[in-house]
Amino acid sequence: MNPAQGYCVAYRAAALDTEIRFKDSAKQAELVAAVAAENAKFAPLVANFHTDGHATAKEAQDCYQKYIFDTQLSLDNEDTEHEANCLGCNTWTTKFASVDGFNFPLCDGHRTRHFVETLYARN
Ligand SMILES: [Zn+2]
Ligand SMILES: [Zn+2]
Repeated sequence: MNPAQGYCVAYRAAALDTEIRFKDSAKQAELVAAVAAENAKFAPLVANFHTDGHATAKEAQDCYQKYIFDTQLSLDNEDTEHEANCLGCNTWTTKFASVDGFNFPLCDGHRTRHFVETLYARN
């Protein structure tokens, strides 16, 4: 899957290369598991892929943002050594959400997909 294209391409499941493999069977098993995990991650998202384009740039941006959030959003991160002000309510928190290379310090109440989407859209 090419992340730069987001959902705006035909879906292609990850597949094992059948012409080359690790001599080390443990390494090969790891690779097989990684391919299976990738396909399992995308299984519920397959219906979002499409090849019919978008009418407007805004629609294309929204489609790409949905892809980024569906595939990269992580809401359950903690930095046990530092605290920062929650971007929603200014209370100190060690927790943060991350997506697309951005980290957002957020308390338990504000660490939701919807709130992170609002912050991300302002970037
Ligand atoms: Zn699209
Ligand atoms: Zn908060």
